[in-house]
Amino acid sequence: MTRARGLTLRTKLLISFAGVGLLVIALLLVGNQIMRDAATRLEVAITAQVRPLARLNRLQSQISRIRVLEIELPRLTDLFAVSDQLELLGAERAAFDRDIVPFIAELKAQQPSEAASLDEHWRRYQSDLQNAARLANLMQLDAVQRISTFESAGRFKTISRTLKQLAESTELSANEALKRAESQQAYQRLLFSATSAVGLLVLAMWFALLARSVTDRVSRLRDAATVIAEGGHAGAVELPIAVVGTDELADLGAAFNAMQAKINAREQALRSAHDELESRVASRTHELHRANERLVHQAQYDGLTHLPNRMLALDRLSQAILAAQRHANHVVLIFLDLDDFKKVNDTLGHGAGDALLVQASQRLRHAVRADDTVARHGGDEFLVILGGLKSLEDAEAVAEKIVQTFAPSFDLDGSEVVVTPSMGLAVYPDDGDNPSMLLRNADLAMYDAKDAGRNTYRYFNQQVHDSSVRRLAIERQLRGAVQRNEFELVYQPLVSTSTLEVRGAEALLRWRSPIDGVVAPEHFIAVAEHTGLIVEIGEWVLRTACAQLAMWRELGWTSFGVAVNVSPRQFRGDSLLATVRECLSANELPPGFLQIEVTEGLLIRNQPEVRETLVALSEMGVRLAMDDFGTGYSSLSYLKRFPFDALKIDREFVRDVASDPDDRALVTAAIRMGRGLGLSVTAEGVETEEQLAFLAEQECDIVQGHLFSEPLPASEFAARWLVREMVRV
Ligand code: C2E
Ligand code: MG
Ligand code: MG
Repeated sequence: MTRARGLTLRTKLLISFAGVGLLVIALLLVGNQIMRDAATRLEVAITAQVRPLARLNRLQSQISRIRVLEIELPRLTDLFAVSDQLELLGAERAAFDRDIVPFIAELKAQQPSEAASLDEHWRRYQSDLQNAARLANLMQLDAVQRISTFESAGRFKTISRTLKQLAESTELSANEALKRAESQQAYQRLLFSATSAVGLLVLAMWFALLARSVTDRVSRLRDAATVIAEGGHAGAVELPIAVVGTDELADLGAAFNAMQAKINAREQALRSAHDELESRVASRTHELHRANERLVHQAQYDGLTHLPNRMLALDRLSQAILAAQRHANHVVLIFLDLDDFKKVNDTLGHGAGDALLVQASQRLRHAVRADDTVARHGGDEFLVILGGLKSLEDAEAVAEKIVQTFAPSFDLDGSEVVVTPSMGLAVYPDDGDNPSMLLRNADLAMYDAKDAGRNTYRYFNQQVHDSSVRRLAIERQLRGAVQRNEFELVYQPLVSTSTLEVRGAEALLRWRSPIDGVVAPEHFIAVAEHTGLIVEIGEWVLRTACAQLAMWRELGWTSFGVAVNVSPRQFRGDSLLATVRECLSANELPPGFLQIEVTEGLLIRNQPEVRETLVALSEMGVRLAMDDFGTGYSSLSYLKRFPFDALKIDREFVRDVASDPDDRALVTAAIRMGRGLGLSVTAEGVETEEQLAFLAEQECDIVQGHLFSEPLPASEFAARWLVREMVRV
C-alpha cells in the first residue's frame, strides 16, 4: 500500500537525537561563555578595585618609611650617619613622589578635593623635608627635631590619613564590585540553568509525545492483534484501528487494517460457507428424520389404509395372548378376505381397488371397539384381533356386525360395487397358543367360509385343518406326477344337436394318485394353478390330446376335432403358442380340428399378452371357445373383443332349464347372442331328453353331457363312438 509519506518514524527519531545533541552542544557553549564572562567580569572588578588598594597600601608604607627616616634623623650623632640617612630619605622621597604624582593625577578626576589636599600637603611635606635635610647637613639636629615635631608631623598625618581614607573607601567599593560581580554571575548561572531546563523540558516533552504516539499506536496494534489472535470480537478494541499519522506505524496500522479486512472477508466467507453447510446439514438431518419417521411408519403401518401391518398385528396378538394368559380369557383372531376383490381390481382398475381397500378398512374400524386391533395382512386380507373375550358369542357378534357393515355397496368413483367378506376365526387358547399358529388356522377357517358360499364366517375346526392338510398333500403328490405318468385324459363327445352326430371330444384330465386313486380336476387343478405345475401338466394334456387325435385320424376319423382346456396360468409367456404349433405340426393336424377352451377369468385381467396369444392362435386357425359361460361376468364385450369361435353355456344353467324359467330365459338369450355373434353354441351338462329337446328347439349347435356319455378313456371312447361313427359313415 502506498501512502502519502510525511515524517517517518526514523526521521523523527533522528530529529530527536539530533535535537538532544544540538541542545547539549548549545548548553555547553552557552555555559562556557557564561562562565568565561563571569570570570572576566570578576577579574575586571578585582583589577579595578584591588590594584588601587595595593597602590594605596604601598603609598602608605612608603610615606610611613619616609616619616621613620625623618624621625630618626635628629637622633643620629655623627655626620656620616646623617648623610647616609639623608641619602636613604632622599631615595624614599623620590620614589614616593614618582608614585604619588600619577596617583594624584588619576585621583583628580574622581575626587578633586582629596587630590588637591594630597598634592598640597605632599608639596609642604617635601619642603619640610628639604629644610630638615639642609639643617641636618649642618648638623643642626635640634632644628631638625623641631621641624619634624612641629611642622612636618601635621603634613605627614594628613597625607597618611588621606591615604588611609582613600584605601578604606577603595576597599568598600571593591567589596561592592565583587558582590555585584558575584550576583551577576549567580544571575547568569540561573539564566543558564533555566535555559537548560527549558531546553531539556522541550526535548523531554517531544520525546514523551513521540513515545506516547508510538506506544499508543503499538499497543493499539498489539490489542487488536491479540483480539484477532484469540478469535474474540473487538469489544474493547475498535476495528479497524484508527490510522494516525503518516509514518511507518501508520503504514503498519493501515496494513493491519487491510489484513484485518481480508481476514474478516475470509471469516465472513467461511462463516457463510459454514452457515450454508449448517443449514444443509440441518435440512438433510430433517429429511433423514422424516425419512426415518416414514420408514418407521412404513415398517409398522400399511401405507394405503394406515392400519397396522402384519408385523405390528402379530406383535399386538402376542400382547393380547399374554394379557389373556393373565386374566384367563380368550383372544379371537379374525382372518378376513374380501370376496371377488380381484374382479374389482381387474374390471375397475387398481385405483378403485385401492379405494375399496381404504373404505373397507374404515368400515372394519367402525365395526370393532377402539381397543381391538384392525390390521392389513396384505392384498385384500385383513386381521381383526379381539382381546379379553369372556365368551365366544362376543366374537360371533363382531363377525356378524362385520358382515352387516359390508352389506351396503361401496361407491368406487361412481361405480356402485357390493363386496362381501369371508372370515375365518381362530381362538386362543383352543386353536393355537402362539400368533403364527392362530394366524394359520384363522386363514384356513377363512377358506372354509369361502367354500361355504362366502360373505360369512367360519371357526377354525378339524375339518378345516384336514382340508388344508389335504391341499398340502396334493401339492406334494402333484410334483413329478407327469414324469410318473399318473395323468390320463378322458374324452366326452361333443354332439351335434340337429344330427346327433359326434363332432369331436373334450379332453378332460384325470389324475391317478397312488394314494387317493382317481382324482377329479376340481380337487387338483386349483392347486396345480397355484403352484404353477399346471404349465407342465397343460403341456402334457395338449401333446397327449393332439397325439390321440392324430391316431384317430389315421384310423379314418377325419371329420372329428378335439377340445382342450387351458388355464390362465399357461398364457404367461409364449410357451403355449409354441407348444400348440409344435403339437399341430408334429401330428400333421389341420389347426381347425383343435379347440382351445378358456374361462372368462383369463380375459378379466385384460392383459395384452393374453389377447395377443388368442389372436395368434386364431390366426393360426385354432378354434377358440369361451367355457363356462354364465358363471363369471358373462360379458358380451369379451365375446366381441376376442376372436372366439364357440361359446359353452355352463351346465349350472342347463341343469334346471326344463323347470326354471329364469335359466330357460338365460340359456335362450345366451344361444341367441352367441348365434348373433356368429359363434357356435355348446350346452354343457345335458342329462335329459327334455333338456336336449329345449336346446334343439332353441337351435343350440352342440350338446355335451351324460345323456350321451360320461367322459371315457380313449380306448373306450374309440370303441364306443369311433366304431359307431365309422359304421354310420
Ligand atoms: P369343463 O371344461 O366345463 O368340463 C366339463 C365338465 O362337466 C367335466 O367335468 C365333465 O365331466 C362335466 N360333465 C359333462 N357332462 C356332464 C353332465 O351331464 N352332468 C354333470 N354333472 N357333469 C358333466 P370334469 O371332468 O370334472 O372337469 C371339471 C373342470 O376341470 C372342467 O370343466 C375344466 O374346467 C377343468 N379341466 C378338466 N380337464 C382339464 C385340463 O386338462 N386342463 C385344465 N386346465 N382344466 C381342466
Ligand atoms: Mg371345458
Ligand atoms: Mg365348462
